Amino acid sequence: MTGNKQRLGQVLVVCAPSGTGKSTLIAKLHEEFPNFGYSVSYTTRAPRGQERDGREYHFVSRETFVAMRSRGEFCEWAEVHGNLYGTATAPVKEMLSQGKDVLFDIDVQGAKQLKKTFYKGNFVFLLPPSRDELVRRLTGRGTDSPEAIAKRLANADGEMAEAGFFDYWIVNDDLENAYQELRAVFVAARCKPELRPDVEENILKNWGEHG
Ligand code: ADP
Ligand code: 5GP
Repeated sequence: MTGNKQRLGQVLVVCAPSGTGKSTLIAKLHEEFPNFGYSVSYTTRAPRGQERDGREYHFVSRETFVAMRSRGEFCEWAEVHGNLYGTATAPVKEMLSQGKDVLFDIDVQGAKQLKKTFYKGNFVFLLPPSRDELVRRLTGRGTDSPEAIAKRLANADGEMAEAGFFDYWIVNDDLENAYQELRAVFVAARCKPELRPDVEENILKNWGEHG
């Protein structure tokens, strides 16, 4: 007999200094696993390039953000490069309970706060192979002004100092290697017993009863 319990979603947090290649790697993961959920953050920064409201971010005014924060709607929030960013708790919990894996693309300060709510999540840190290469990638991307790049680099120095917080380190030198490592973490996490109350109910609980 099959019970009512179902698989729960995993929490996968991916952090990296800006310019490391986090968006590139997450896009690849999404291509292979189009069904994973993505925690769409709220931010006060303006949309860049092709970004659309509700897809990459919920773009809101500082006033709206502060009101949401004071109502306790965020499980974490941070000021990054002069803008506010936050994760709303309710949609994440809803996806997890439906068995959807949820990926969080947040900064290191946010990851540390998130651990208090989702302490069993997997926290992954992507590292650039060197500071010089990070400068090349930030410049080569062509989306940020020299001032914004300088801000991102200063922030990167602080984030690299927090590497010890994370469960996994993935160096994004060769893109394909880095992708295989990220993929391995994602796939392995789905096998965690705490995410499989369905296995507990359907297989383990009654084991031996009919033997
Ligand atoms: P992030 O999301 O971490 O800020 P992006 O994914 O936008 O970074 O990548 C920054 C730049 O680096 C982009 O131009 C991207 O194409 C390039 N890039 C990403 N991964 C690699 C890699 N392994 N080797 C070389 N360039 C890379
Ligand atoms: P960007 O403006 O380049 O999209 O993001 C800047 C930084 O903010 C990135 O490191 C990104 O991971 C982080 N960020 C995005 N959303 C959130 C969020 O909801 N919370 C926190 N703490 N950081 C976020």
